[in-house]
Amino acid sequence: MNVKMKKLINDLLQLQELFEARAQQETLADRDRIGDLERAIERMIRQLPADVATLFQRIQQRSPPAIVPMVNNVCSGCGMVIPISLAHAIHAATELHRCPTCARILYYLDSSAPRRVPTRRVGPAGIRVGIARYTSPELMVPDLAATTREEAIRELCNVLATQGFVTDGAQLFEAAMRRETIACTAVEHGLAFPHARGIEGGGLTLTLGISRKGIRFDPQSHSLTRIIFFVVIPSAGSAFYLRLLAGLTRTFADAAARKKLLAAKTPEQLWKTLCQLTRKAIP
Ligand SMILES: [Zn+2]
Repeated sequence: MNVKMKKLINDLLQLQELFEARAQQETLADRDRIGDLERAIERMIRQLPADVATLFQRIQQRSPPAIVPMVNNVCSGCGMVIPISLAHAIHAATELHRCPTCARILYYLDSSAPRRVPTRRVGPAGIRVGIARYTSPELMVPDLAATTREEAIRELCNVLATQGFVTDGAQLFEAAMRRETIACTAVEHGLAFPHARGIEGGGLTLTLGISRKGIRFDPQSHSLTRIIFFVVIPSAGSAFYLRLLAGLTRTFADAAARKKLLAAKTPEQLWKTLCQLTRKAIP
């Protein structure tokens, strides 16, 4: 891949992050943050070649995300196999290419690079419903050792890697920290929603960490974050993520619900409480 194309694809991925961050803030109805993100989006769009900017915005409006990786010759936006000659061209990347089925912009992602394995375990009941579709008792951390945002994200990435939900915790951590620098994911009520996108090969996966002392998650704010939902989002899971986020936000806007969650002492208690509290908002 030449340097110019590499930069263009990176710019588009960053623009994608900004769009996703704005969609997330719209869910949370945070006007200040939406304004900041809109200005960042405008700046980024002005830097792009005009035809690419137009194309990106058109796809983003119709079927986000506009840019997705091709993994093992499959479009991770729609799941269709890419014809071999086009797959070669996407790998060579001398120009931008699009998926013939869903029209999204495609870039090459090395599938030999360890990304993640879908080792989601199925509970004794067999079928999982509600939030259990996205998480698991072994992904509950009722007492984070972390005292900073960086440590908290690292700790949760390590849990995902140790439990076999991702193969490379360090790579996940880097992606999540890159996202934090675009826009902080802390919101009101002591909640934060750090996440990493474009981690392919598995489903949407959530891990929950509780900080007893509280962490200053947002460098620009003095309020402390206690409840941290870290989510791994594959390209095809973007829409599910917004629904999950809306459900969690709605549930934990309630002080009594937060109190119950914070009262859980063991991973098993935290798991049961999370499932019970989100039953209505995340069916
Ligand atoms: Zn596609």
